[in-house]
This record gives sequence, C-alpha cells and structure tokens, in this order.
Amino acid sequence: MFRSELDRVVNYTVAIFEAKVKADANENLLNYPDRLHAILSNAVMETFEKMRYYPEIDSDNLRKALGKFYGFEKDNFVVSNGSDELIKLIIQSTCYPGDFILTVFPCFAMYKISADILSVSHSSFDITESWRLDPEKFVSFAKKIDKLKVVFLDTPNNPLGIAYPYEDVEYIVKNLQETLIVIDNAYGEYCQIDYLPLLKYPNVIVTRTFSKLGFAGLRCGYAVSSKKNIEYLNRVKPPYNVNIFAQVICAKVLENFELLKQNVETIKTERDRMFEKLRQWYFVLPSQANFLSIIDQRSQSLYDIMRRNGILVKLFKLRNFDLLRITVGEPSNNRVVVSLLANFWEGEVHAHSGD
Ligand SMILES: *Cc1c(COP(=O)(O)O)cnc(C)c1O
Repeated sequence: MFRSELDRVVNYTVAIFEAKVKADANENLLNYPDRLHAILSNAVMETFEKMRYYPEIDSDNLRKALGKFYGFEKDNFVVSNGSDELIKLIIQSTCYPGDFILTVFPCFAMYKISADILSVSHSSFDITESWRLDPEKFVSFAKKIDKLKVVFLDTPNNPLGIAYPYEDVEYIVKNLQETLIVIDNAYGEYCQIDYLPLLKYPNVIVTRTFSKLGFAGLRCGYAVSSKKNIEYLNRVKPPYNVNIFAQVICAKVLENFELLKQNVETIKTERDRMFEKLRQWYFVLPSQANFLSIIDQRSQSLYDIMRRNGILVKLFKLRNFDLLRITVGEPSNNRVVVSLLANFWEGEVHAHSGD
C-alpha cells in the first residue's frame, strides 16, 4: 500500500534521556528576561479562550509583524510550522520527481530527508579540507547537474557552525540564476554576516526560525523573498499550518525583540569564551551559531563520557570524520561542559604518557 521508496527513507531521530545539561538540539535554554516573561504569559492567557477557533489561515498578523520588523511587506513572508516545513514547501513547489536539489556536505539533515520523501534526487558538494566552501567549484559542480532546481545553503552551517562569506554566497547566487538558492539562516541572530541584502536577487529565499531563539516548542519558522516567490510557496502551504499560540507569541517576540537581545548576546559571549578554552585541547571550528563543534576521532568516547556525566550533546559520524556538536547554554552549564572536556583531555594525556 505504501510507496516502495519509503522503505529507504530514514527520518530524523533524536536520543531521548534525562540530562542535567541538555546541549544536543541547539535550543536557547536561557530564562526569558522578566519583562518578556510577563508579556508572553499574558499573551498565552489571552489566547487561551481563542483556542476553539481556527488560527489565522496565513498567519497574517505575524506576517505583518515580520514586515514591520524587517522593513518589508507582509507579502514578502510565508510562515510555517517550523522552518522544516518550509524545506518541504520549497521542494514541493519547485521539483518534479527525479529533479535534483543540491547541498553542501555536511549540512542540515532535513534537506535530503524531505527530498527523499518527495521522490526528489539529492546531490552534495564536499566542504574543503580547510572547512571552506569553494564557490567557483561549487558553481561548476552545480552546472553539471541537469535537473537541478534548488540549492540549500545552511549558513551558519549545521553541524559545522561556520558561516560562508557573503561574497561567496553572492557568487553562487549570481552564477546560478536559473536555480533557486535557499539561504537557510536558522542561526542568523548569532551570526555576524547579514545575508538579507542578497534578497535583491530574484532567485534567493532566506529562511529563519524562532526555534534557536528560545521558542523551539512553538514550531514556527518563516521565509522571506520576493512577493512572486512567496506566492508560489503559499500555493502549496497547507491552510492553518501554524497554531494560534505560535502566531500570537512569535508576533509578541518580534514586537519586543529588544528584550531578547541580552539572551542572544549572552550566548554569543559564552560561545566565544568556550571556543577559546576548548581550542587549547581540541580542534574546534569557529562558530557563528549557538553551538560549538569539535572534530575528533575520539568523539564516541567523549560522547559516552559526557552522557555518563549527565551531559547530552549530539554526535555526528560523518563520512570521513566524527563531530561532537555542543549547544551553548547557561554559563554554569557551559562551565560543567568545559571542565569535563578539560578532564578528559588530561586523562588522555595521562594514558598516553603512561605507555
Ligand atoms: C534547526 C534548524 C532548522 C529547523 O528549524 P525549525 O524551525 O525548528 O524547523 C533549519 N535549518 C537549520 C540549519 C537548522 O539547524
């Protein structure tokens, strides 16, 4: 009864166990600042009685808030149930079965998963050994793919944390004019580079999310692009795809964004501080996101030891390297992580000097 291709689809999974320090999913787990806490809990209570109605069908009020926040119009946005849903909407509105999407390797897992589910083919282009994206080679690789419809570029990249230079992304956008370039900017608020000016090119869509800002449980993301591009995404978007709480709270978050800035700053400062510490002992990639990634052959042992100590991080066993992705959180939790990693390193040194 089911499509045979689905036998090969492996969907996204996560490890579930109780952790003292949850650093595995790039959530922002800092407390909401008091004022924001009050504003949002009032909004929840006011929304409570509206639960019996369907929400706004196209999240119009939230789109207006987005328009105001970014200085665009509401019709430049489509709002979705997590930016994960956007990935699917973008593939659905551009690809026939057998068409191709292209990503960098490694990258966020949902591009390939969504393509697989929709019977769309997937190709990927390796990051260089010095952890850079070579834009010229990327473009020539892309040009050889006959039925290429969409390029997904997560920048900052998940799981690497690195952000591609603006000029490199612009080079790709300019040289692949027939291809839709999706700049997945899920960590945009933690990143120094602003890719939004690339929206001047008609083949660019930028996607963002509230998930990495402290609202992962609401499942709310959005895409910004030309009205024409957004119109197509709206044609495939399910009606009422975003629940009423997500719509109301996310609009409030945008209206009060000043109150959230300190949280974002704390994470950035902590990230840079942790980076300086950890790089004494490990190969750590310079991160523009709310996590740090360690590339180490001993990642599995590190993961096990952390887990035994109540710290949950995410382990990636990639084609030619293992990577440990650690979400930056509360300063006290970050210190626990750093000291455990320091101890592990010292233990290792000890073990080796003993033989
Ligand atoms: C977390 C993440 C997303 C998904 O965000 P949701 O809005 O929670 O679906 C998209 N892209 C990247 C690169 C991510 O890391």
